[in-house]
Amino acid sequence: MTNQLKGWKKKMFILKDKTQLERAIEKAKKMRPTVKFDHFGRYRVSGSKGGFYTVICKKSDNGFKLIECTCKGAERGLVCYHAVSALSLHIGLARQRRTA
Ligand SMILES: [Zn+2]
Repeated sequence: MTNQLKGWKKKMFILKDKTQLERAIEKAKKMRPTVKFDHFGRYRVSGSKGGFYTVICKKSDNGFKLIECTCKGAERGLVCYHAVSALSLHIGLARQRRTA
């Protein structure tokens, strides 16, 4: 686990580009990645070449959803399908929390 964190770079993007987001959702539907729950706000999503990417979901002060992913796409500022896969789980959990 410690070795995996070596290449960890903090990259995040704000969900505001709807087209990019829709594309990522389409890809997520095709790829159907496995999303593993670490703890609330932190997930691991399977990549196309095996292995898992860590995705962090949180809310910024101004109410935007912030997502970080450890994959190459996110490094280039792209909304990746790992992020949207984790986000759908995250939103579901957040909803449960609010109603609990
Ligand atoms: Zn990613």
